[in-house]
Amino acid sequence: KHKAIQMSKEENLECSFCGRKKAETDLLIAGVDAHICDKCIEQAHGIVEEEVSETNTGGLSKDLLLKKPVEIKTFLDQYIIGQDETKRAMAVAVYNHYKRLLQTTDTDHEDEVEIEKSNIVLVGETGTGKTLVARTIAKMLNVPFSIVDATVLTQAGYVGEDVESILSRLLQAADYDLEKAQRGIVFIDEIDKIARKGDNPSITRDVSGEGVQQALLKLLEGTVVNVAPKGGRKHPEQKFIEVDTKDILFIAGGAFSGIERIISKRLNRQAVGFSASLDDDKIDEENLLQYIIPSDLKAFGLIPEIIGRLPVLSYMNPLDAITLRAILTTPKNSIIKQYTKLFAMDAIDFTIEEDALNYIVENAVAYKLGARGLRSLCEAIFTDAMFELPSAEEKVLKVTKQYAASKLTNTTLKKLRAAS
Ligand code: ADP
Repeated sequence: KHKAIQMSKEENLECSFCGRKKAETDLLIAGVDAHICDKCIEQAHGIVEEEVSETNTGGLSKDLLLKKPVEIKTFLDQYIIGQDETKRAMAVAVYNHYKRLLQTTDTDHEDEVEIEKSNIVLVGETGTGKTLVARTIAKMLNVPFSIVDATVLTQAGYVGEDVESILSRLLQAADYDLEKAQRGIVFIDEIDKIARKGDNPSITRDVSGEGVQQALLKLLEGTVVNVAPKGGRKHPEQKFIEVDTKDILFIAGGAFSGIERIISKRLNRQAVGFSASLDDDKIDEENLLQYIIPSDLKAFGLIPEIIGRLPVLSYMNPLDAITLRAILTTPKNSIIKQYTKLFAMDAIDFTIEEDALNYIVENAVAYKLGARGLRSLCEAIFTDAMFELPSAEEKVLKVTKQYAASKLTNTTLKKLRAAS
């Protein structure tokens, strides 16, 4: 009898906000003097989120506004060795980009001057840090970041990924927060692979050439795209989310292999016309990329409209032995610092001698493994120790050149070479 009374009491409970009976809710939570149902909780949560993002000047965090180009560059310096030209260009581009965002939220600008977006294109060999630069900028700004490989993109209707898939990944990176995603950064890798093949006889597939460039152009210009949320928790009922790309910063990167020839030809042509002036300004034949201008990208096969939408053009220097050596130990989260931390977690006393570091660099250079190879080389050298030492009696690892050499057999090196 007692139980029955309690039951009927429970049935009478209702949400103090909307008045729904307990039976009509999925969940009714009791407070001191009131109850709240799942639906009201969700609604209230939505209101809180809106309020919070509004007070943050539309999601743009305050500290972001304070970073000047010099400070942005200093931040990049902590993670990226060298590449000063690009770091400066990026710092300015990103600074201007976020100034532009401020302007669009600022209602009292009367001069009608509209600042255009400063999307960026980085030209340089693979492994020179293009992705790293883009990723580090996103980390600094605390905005969502996604990477897409231009080679998997195709025109709508062909096998492969639609250009829109770029945005569904960005949404994912933003945890389906539309506001955040619309201010994110997208890195488009291997943009050179969708160049128009033109009169090049080795055309294998051009469905993904100019067609993809045209599709990409729309995103770069700023447009509203219907994006399938693909399993987003926050919009279960929606088939599509409308994403506006006008404030998304696009950074494109590519190796543009062979572009040196185009640059060289152009420089020689110019030299014929202006031989006197160029004599003083000797051309550095070793690193022609530093002379790159937008028309070289056009000659390579990017359509002029795309080039126009990527107004900031910069280049990456090839990594020499000195740079590779610095990459091993100087960046804030350098490879060696990471291993040191891993070993420290097992109380392993880890040291590596200068000779051994140089030995790693020599191999990376000799086998043309680049910066990515540094990690693979370290992995090959440290794996045995990482396996054995955590359960060993004497937890000491002193890596000498000899030790490193003993772990790098020819087979390992061959494998690394093949994988690079
Ligand atoms: P890319 O995009 O040009 O192919 P990545 O940015 O992916 O090259 O670089 C590969 C890895 O090499 C990075 O994760 C980073 O560890 C290292 N690296 C490359 N260049 C640099 C650099 N200039 N400073 C520090 N690390 C670098």
